[in-house]
Amino acid sequence: MSTPHQYSITATDPGAHLFSVSVTVAKPDPAGQEFAIPAWIPGSYLIRDLARQVVAISAAAEGREIGLSKTDKSTWQADPCESPLTLTAQIYAYDLSVRGAHVDTTHAFFDGACVFPVVVGQEDQTCQLDILPPQKPVGNDWRVATSMQPLGAKRYEFGTYIAANYAELIDHPVEMGDILIGEFEACNIPHAIAVIGHTHFDMARICHDLKTLCETQLKFLGAPKNLDRYLFLLRVEEDGYGGLEHRWSSSLSCSRKDLPRRGETKVSDDYRKFLGLCSHEYFHLWNVKRIKPERFTPYDLRAETYTGILWVFEGITSYYDDLFLLRSGLISSKSFLELLAKTITRVTRNRGRHLQNIEESSFDAWTRFYKQDANSSNAIVSYYTKGSLIALALDLTIRKDTDGKKSLDDVMRECWSLYGETGEGLPERGLESLARSVSGLELEDFFDRYVRGTADLPLAGLLKAAGINMRMRAANNSKDMGGKPASSSSMPPPWLGATLKVEAGASRFGVVHSGSPAESAGIAPGDEAVALDGLRLRAHNLDDRLRDHHAGDTVTITAFREESLLRHRVKLVAPPEDTCYLEIDSDADGGAEKCRKDWLANISK
Ligand SMILES: [Zn+2]
Repeated sequence: MSTPHQYSITATDPGAHLFSVSVTVAKPDPAGQEFAIPAWIPGSYLIRDLARQVVAISAAAEGREIGLSKTDKSTWQADPCESPLTLTAQIYAYDLSVRGAHVDTTHAFFDGACVFPVVVGQEDQTCQLDILPPQKPVGNDWRVATSMQPLGAKRYEFGTYIAANYAELIDHPVEMGDILIGEFEACNIPHAIAVIGHTHFDMARICHDLKTLCETQLKFLGAPKNLDRYLFLLRVEEDGYGGLEHRWSSSLSCSRKDLPRRGETKVSDDYRKFLGLCSHEYFHLWNVKRIKPERFTPYDLRAETYTGILWVFEGITSYYDDLFLLRSGLISSKSFLELLAKTITRVTRNRGRHLQNIEESSFDAWTRFYKQDANSSNAIVSYYTKGSLIALALDLTIRKDTDGKKSLDDVMRECWSLYGETGEGLPERGLESLARSVSGLELEDFFDRYVRGTADLPLAGLLKAAGINMRMRAANNSKDMGGKPASSSSMPPPWLGATLKVEAGASRFGVVHSGSPAESAGIAPGDEAVALDGLRLRAHNLDDRLRDHHAGDTVTITAFREESLLRHRVKLVAPPEDTCYLEIDSDADGGAEKCRKDWLANISK
């Protein structure tokens, strides 16, 4: 084996938020070795230009400095040199997200794409990584949590680790600090959860629940051959939520209230959200980390890589994440239907679904989904939420039209065997072909209408055939996200069609829905609300102010835009029925009842 690239990383100066990173290349390109830092991170489709955080960089060989010139925003080229060449960089790291790098005196975290330069042309070379302790004193004894394979390092300690190539090097995020660790086995594979952030919670319960969840998923598609370990890296914040998938781990953030306290036994809505996040990222270890779009094999991390099938990966995963909570017995079918109804509500309120289809949403993720503004819900559709409803509709269509003989599960199993186990990329229309061949159904019209078109999914009929009644109603108030029947205690307010939120101490309009009374009257995002018919208007009292009126009433809303006070005459209308809840159909026939039982079965037993 030729000499691996020798990487090292240390939090040189935690107080200054600096990592020092080096890589030694045994055989540099004699024409002048190039090094580059990725422009984007796999799983997060936004050009981040991570090289902008490099604050100092130099090259040396045999103790003498080698000239280094920058050839574009992310690339450096060393002067020709034939002896082992070492590149050293100081990298500023103060982005506290699951897809960032962050170091301070309490901990250090990095996603490898943020910190490790790639040796251009030698991407396939094995990489050894020395993870070294901070060079300046920090508060506590730090431990190390990563799914990277140790090479001499003891588990959870500083030392040497190894990765098969660059893509793998950056696929193992690393957390260092005062880490709490829980361990469990799922289908005989060692799993762990490493938690950072002061918090008190029931680790034994989390390990128990994650074990059930992981085992149910492992039995569904089968453990990938190289899945010999798995790590959930979790950062607990006061108000956090996010996740990024990797092949042997996921990095997650959640809110303190999401984790169950010792003694609690109920699955709260917050804990359900946390389990859903774990379920989502774990399902990705198959769907997007091993079954990948053909256009991502291999990733080109220097520039946007366009694909129209992100919905297959994020949408189908979003459908299965909650379904696996149900299939694991962690939540009830009532709870699952509540989550589904909330997703239907979100998509129904998203007026951009008629302007952008799901392929376009995937393709334009770089500039639209990842760069949202106040108009996004009027102009674009989410490949997560709409994608998950397409998965639902496809699943129920296949179940109905094959008399329960096939389902989306069969399509996913075939997808795993053809594209996951082989590592061959999924072609742009690969899932469609699979759905047709596995089910034996003519599904071209389905894909034309709902994937390549913007038609609303025929969910009411499909759910009815699965023994579920889909009900739509007006929102009870501006916090109502659906999932439950209407509140009996308060009337829905008439519709203004704009949200109000507190920003820097002021109540400002956020989204102004297209076709709404607010839009017709000229209210704009960012306007600072003052009063409605002379009474002070604030984010917290918008519903009450509106409830003083009825549909058809004209009211005056005053608001500042910059320094000008504007008076808007707004004619309120009846609220749209855009809020969904789902109920078991007690009159369902035998076929529908069987479909529902098959679909909503707990398969963990
Ligand atoms: Zn995802």
